[in-house]
Amino acid sequence: MEETDRLLDTIRRRGAKTVGLQFPVGLRPRAVALAGDLEARGGVTCLIAADPSFGACDVAEMPVDLIVHLAHAPMPHLRYRNVYFYDLPTPVPESLSFLDAALALLPKRVGLITTTQHREWVPRIVEYLRGKGVEGVVSEPDRRVAYAAQVLGCDYFTATNVADRVDGYLYVGTGDFHPLGVAIICKDKPVVIADPSTGEARTLDAVKDRVLRQRWGAIVRAQDAHMFGILVSKKIGQDRGSLAADLKAKLEASGRSARLFFMDLVAPELLEGYGVDAWVSTACPRIAIEDYLRYKEPMLTPQELEIVLGERKWEDYVFDEIRA
Ligand code: SF4
Repeated sequence: MEETDRLLDTIRRRGAKTVGLQFPVGLRPRAVALAGDLEARGGVTCLIAADPSFGACDVAEMPVDLIVHLAHAPMPHLRYRNVYFYDLPTPVPESLSFLDAALALLPKRVGLITTTQHREWVPRIVEYLRGKGVEGVVSEPDRRVAYAAQVLGCDYFTATNVADRVDGYLYVGTGDFHPLGVAIICKDKPVVIADPSTGEARTLDAVKDRVLRQRWGAIVRAQDAHMFGILVSKKIGQDRGSLAADLKAKLEASGRSARLFFMDLVAPELLEGYGVDAWVSTACPRIAIEDYLRYKEPMLTPQELEIVLGERKWEDYVFDEIRA
């Protein structure tokens, strides 16, 4: 059964009359057609969430009978109400020869990591690697990720869980952020990206050096800050309110001031005008790392604030994760 047929079946069984649709930015071109299809075949009225959707941590609150969240796997530890996760895994390609470009860069035992889109490729990739003399080690998921080998930008359990059984990692997917997290967390092990869309393979050494230099710069700039703003997310899977309260208490104990800011979307223009000298994000870890250059004031992760406060050494730098 096609995924839309499965969804229509759920709509009928639940007697839903109104349906909210939440799309990641990259899938926006499908929004108008899917809403039209559901309205025509399901007899429902659709509301398309026009706010950006970043992950299963971020399910919209909408005045509808059923929310349809596309292309992210549900986080097992969260309790979603009236949410249908519309699954869109990428079919396994006939040939995995794009992996060949990575072979020369790989050690003999690698932890295999990927995103939810490619999760169905994992058994075939392990088999393919074995045929090339490389052992692919796959970790079961934890409470925040749904599938074996799946990593999120905020949860690297499937990488760290096999760290003592591998000499490096192979990330199958696009983009740098997920493998960058692994490269920083699993410090001494090489991380190789095999990108199925380009057929290219690369290591992350230069990116990792650049990002760590930026993080050091942010930490140094925050040393002189007096007023800190601590971001607390409204999103269901990014809520770290008690960590934020702990950080506020630590800042105040060190003689600095801190205020808590509660928000949904975090964006530079929304943080202007408060007179804050430095920010600490307890929301999505990507905000501090990826969007760093968009903010006037330094934007830190909780662990980076520990370095500012002298509680952690730079040598013990760790990547921020939201572990359930
Ligand atoms: S918290 Fe950030 S990295 Fe984690 S799932 Fe949500 S958007 Fe992705």
